[in-house]
Amino acid sequence: MVVPTSRVGVQNAQQERIMAVPKRKMSKSKSRSRKASAWRVGRTARSTCPNCGASKRPHRACGNCGWYAGRQAIEVD
Ligand SMILES: [Zn+2]
Repeated sequence: MVVPTSRVGVQNAQQERIMAVPKRKMSKSKSRSRKASAWRVGRTARSTCPNCGASKRPHRACGNCGWYAGRQAIEVD
């Protein structure tokens, strides 16, 4: 029986293809903790106020002294 060489090549490739298979079942807690990580809230970005040196969020007026963009942006008691 004559089989086209291209076909034989495809057949051999299918037979010799070996997939990587996990050795053990992944535990519920392991997979659930991985899936839960998508919901985790990240740490808020912090920067330092150039006027008073207090910790503040970037691109926001300083909550301690009201300084933003080199001027008194908001009134703070
Ligand atoms: Zn400040």
